[in-house]
This record gives sequence, C-alpha cells and structure tokens, in this order.
Amino acid sequence: MIIVLTSIIAIVVIVFILGVRPKDLPAPEPVSPFAHLDERKAAIYENLRDLQFEYRVGKLSDHDYQQTKQDLQKELAGVMAEVDRIKGELGVVAQVQTVKAKRPNTCPHCQASFDKPLKFCGECGKPMKAATA
Ligand SMILES: [Zn+2]
Repeated sequence: MIIVLTSIIAIVVIVFILGVRPKDLPAPEPVSPFAHLDERKAAIYENLRDLQFEYRVGKLSDHDYQQTKQDLQKELAGVMAEVDRIKGELGVVAQVQTVKAKRPNTCPHCQASFDKPLKFCGECGKPMKAATA
C-alpha cells in the first residue's frame, strides 16, 4: 500500500513538473524591466495625493507634510533615475520602436504580442494604445 501510494505521488510529481514547466517557464515575467518601477511610481503618486488630502483636511502638521512630501519626491526621483538608467543600458526606446513597427499588436507595457488587435493586453491587462495608434 505504501509503495503504491509513494509511486502514485512520484508519478503525480513528475507529471506536475513536466506539465507545468514548459508552459510556465517561457513567459512567467513580462519582458519589461520597468513594470515594477512603474508600479512604484504609481504608488508614490498615490501617496502624494493622500498626503495632500490629509494635509488639506488638517490631519498633518506643516512640518510633517513638508517632510513626507520631500521624502516621497526624493523616492520618485530615484525611481525616475532608475528608469533612465535601465533605458540607457538596454537601449529600450529603440528596441520598443522596432517591435512596434514589426508587430502592431504588441503591448507597449510588457511587450507581449498577439495575433489580433486587443483593447487591453492579455498579459498585463493595460490598455494597448499602440494597437490603435
Ligand atoms: Zn502588456
């Protein structure tokens, strides 16, 4: 009984590994190196908005507001610098433009390409403006 159980588990594990790997490995992460930076940028903007709101409502002191705002702006500048650095390193701008020219249904955010025009990217869900432009 134990042997049967063990071999069933072994088979299941093997099937799982063989079945999942080839499908999942090629495209688990979108190719875009900016995805996480874009997210951080969006988060910082959101924090700035919240901060401004709380300040206007009177929840924050002048000093706290200025301090937090400065911190957020510093972080934002860091993210922007990181984006520029990666762009420079990879020459992504040129790359993206060739990809766009070659494949009209390529997502401008994650570079996933599709056979037909889509309103929203099937990979990252962002609007595919490049497809209609
Ligand atoms: Zn996408």
